[in-house]
Amino acid sequence: MQPNTTPMMKQYLSIKEQYPDAILFYRMGDFYEMFFKDAETASRLLEITLTSRNKNHSAPIPMCGIPYRAVQSYIAKLIEMGRKVAICDQVEDPALAKGLVKREVVRVITPGMIIENEFLDAKSNNYVLALYKQGKQFGLSFLDISTGTFRVAESDKIEKIISETLRAAPSEILLPESFKKDSFFELIINSVREKAITFLKDKYFDYNQARASLMEILKTLSLEGFGCEHLKSGIGAAGAVLHYVGETQKQKIEHITSLETYTFNDFMAVDESSCKNLELMENLRTGTRTGTLLEVLDLTVTSMGGRLLREWLRYPLMKIEDINRRLEAVDEARVNTMKTAELRESLKSVYDLERLGSRIVMGHASARDMTALKKSLNMLPGIISLVSGFKSPLFVWEYESDLLHELAILIEKSIREDAPVTINEGKIIKTGYNKELDELIKISRDGKGWLAKLEVQERKSTGINSVKVRFNKVFGYYLEVPKNHSQKVPSHYIRKQTLVNAERYITDELKDFESKVLNAEDRRAALEYEIFNQVRAEVCKYSTQIKNAARYIAHLDCLLNLGCIAVQNDYTRPEINTKGNLIIEDGRHPVIEKMITGERFVPNTISMDDIENQIMIITGPNMAGKSTVLRQAALMAVMAQMGSFVPASYASICLTDKIFTRVGALDNLSQGQSTFMVEMQETANILNNATSKSLVILDEIGRGTSTYDGLSIAWAVAEYLHDLREKGVKTLFATHYHELTELEQHKPRVKNYNIAVKEINDEIIFLRKLVKGGTNRSYGIQVARLAGIPEKVIERSKTILAEIETNAAQSKNLNNVSEQSSYYEKKPVQLDLFAHEAFLTQEIKSLEIAKMAPLEALNFLNKLQEKIKIC
Ligand code: ADP
Ligand code: MG
Repeated sequence: MQPNTTPMMKQYLSIKEQYPDAILFYRMGDFYEMFFKDAETASRLLEITLTSRNKNHSAPIPMCGIPYRAVQSYIAKLIEMGRKVAICDQVEDPALAKGLVKREVVRVITPGMIIENEFLDAKSNNYVLALYKQGKQFGLSFLDISTGTFRVAESDKIEKIISETLRAAPSEILLPESFKKDSFFELIINSVREKAITFLKDKYFDYNQARASLMEILKTLSLEGFGCEHLKSGIGAAGAVLHYVGETQKQKIEHITSLETYTFNDFMAVDESSCKNLELMENLRTGTRTGTLLEVLDLTVTSMGGRLLREWLRYPLMKIEDINRRLEAVDEARVNTMKTAELRESLKSVYDLERLGSRIVMGHASARDMTALKKSLNMLPGIISLVSGFKSPLFVWEYESDLLHELAILIEKSIREDAPVTINEGKIIKTGYNKELDELIKISRDGKGWLAKLEVQERKSTGINSVKVRFNKVFGYYLEVPKNHSQKVPSHYIRKQTLVNAERYITDELKDFESKVLNAEDRRAALEYEIFNQVRAEVCKYSTQIKNAARYIAHLDCLLNLGCIAVQNDYTRPEINTKGNLIIEDGRHPVIEKMITGERFVPNTISMDDIENQIMIITGPNMAGKSTVLRQAALMAVMAQMGSFVPASYASICLTDKIFTRVGALDNLSQGQSTFMVEMQETANILNNATSKSLVILDEIGRGTSTYDGLSIAWAVAEYLHDLREKGVKTLFATHYHELTELEQHKPRVKNYNIAVKEINDEIIFLRKLVKGGTNRSYGIQVARLAGIPEKVIERSKTILAEIETNAAQSKNLNNVSEQSSYYEKKPVQLDLFAHEAFLTQEIKSLEIAKMAPLEALNFLNKLQEKIKIC
């Protein structure tokens, strides 16, 4: 980087040095310019032309630029791609600057630090999250600056911290630099791969410093009140978040008014892979919301409600009283259909109070934001009076009606509803609000009349009827006279310009007027800006009330939403029990029941407990509906504990602390990675962390490896879960290893089920009914036919299958096939394959190689090969 010779380049480089990991937008006139590496990166990412400065120089500087008016869309693109942008503006008036204009970075926009609505998804939070470790404890803290949501938690287990990090789904993660040296660093990095990571110096995580800044922001004398005084690592992480806000926003944050401390036990744990497997919020294949539980459950009408519902879904409750309180309220909303509908209609007119509030407090609000705030506030009294008929405590709100009314009036009096988006070009403050402004407005308005009068007067005095008063940026106001009248022009007219057909003049009188009017207009814009800022400062004083209102509306929206969904989808209120019973009568899969076309969804009943029916082994051909039954049980538990009604005719759900799911490699093709390893890691996680209060969903585990390995692992895993901590854990186990049904005879709490199919003339019909007992048929060939495999292949498969079966029947007579021969006695198709292989193995084993002649060995090999060919 040699050509730092010009003063401007020097200035650029010294600023850039402070923001090495951001793309620096350097303001020059009407453009933001980027140089060097930034220019190369930005031109590639934004698809804009890369040029260069000092083209003729031996070392030209790569450069690209974007018009400042279009900057938002370019920033949005870069943020979307996980980049950071530092906005460097001219901080003095270029006209007044002596020498080089002073420039400063006024804000850094990063994926986790966004306030503008246009860059944000209305229905999800945008978090920046920091991790820290002090002593044995890991701390985690995250903030959504656009809403002010701020949380902190701790754990001594890195796995839990990582899992919680993934659950919070931050857009950006802050780590102390020292983490790079720690053994767990790789684990963190691998787990949070696609996220933007920013390293900060360790000093920003310092406990004392962090604690002091927290107390300053929260305006308290200790952190006791927030329940986190003892969380040293957590507070360190929270401090780093605050530091980062200050560094990027270049201002103090006023709208963070509380810090929520929580522990991981407060909520049902649904780890990231289960969240994905169950498609709670993201479709496994498409990555979108379509076909997810969230899509089915979310008919919220406000953005705040949408965000909260997402949170309810991701953080199901663990306290029975809390769950019942929600269910109670949802029930009330469900029963009072009309009122709920009316309320929801009103809520539609409430804007995103949470984000509006934050934008206003942070000084990024426009007059339109103010108006949106006012309109929302005006909806509140109506909403409150409608809600007052509800009895559930969750509908009660300590509504600060006077204050909020006062606030609405303030905006009503001051801000014009037709204000433009910009706040420095006037037309935002109402007349009557400020005397000086009214006068200025009068001057500019009267000026127009005065000009009209002047025109008439000049026409009269000069006798030139075509004299016109005009305005342009170069001369300001002037009088235009057609050329053929030039000789009539009086002597006090001063000629400024000659055109082909006309001449332009000014007069002293006109110039006096001009300075008055133009000044008035400039002054007016400045004054309006000033008044706007005063109003804004005034509004900031109500930020707590705005926040409370936002919170209430979000809750109201969610409760009404769930009530409405319960009616629409015909859901039932679940009972929550602590006896360990999971009973779902006529349960449906909430998503699939909406998606299937043609077929009607067949409800299924499951009844599990910790005494006899703890582990359900579910067999049945492919496509029978095994995965569906499994998932619907898990979804039901999540729904119940988030406070939703459930798709069943009756449900009693035991309080579940964790849900684990493991979906067999082949069922989860979208991952496309080394599947068996992932499968085993996830299985290990389940075995190590499940408790007797958990619910485990195992869908075809062991598929990713050879049949023997897979079966053995599946068997051992099932046994382990049955014996877990001597109590066992409720498990739904779908498998194509029919041999597993044997387990029922060995383990008292294992029960076999299968999903019934009917066979008619070599074709199968899926009955979708879960019934007691195991099955020993795969119907693979029939399913293949349904899938459209050519008839020729189907016929050939049948022949091969028949051969294998015969072969296996013969080999049955072999003794010593396996020590656990009881598995094989039933001779289902799959099992015959085993026996066949076992037979070959047996033959090889019985060879006395030392005594064989080479030719003999070859012949033997040949014989083996022939046998194998048959299968
Ligand atoms: P399996 O896991 O046994 O291969 P799935 O659970 O994936 O089968 O189900 C396959 C398809 O069958 C589902 O996508 C759905 O369309 C349909 N299905 C499953 N269960 C039902 C049901 N109870 N009622 C109606 N259709 C069902
Ligand atoms: Mg399946």
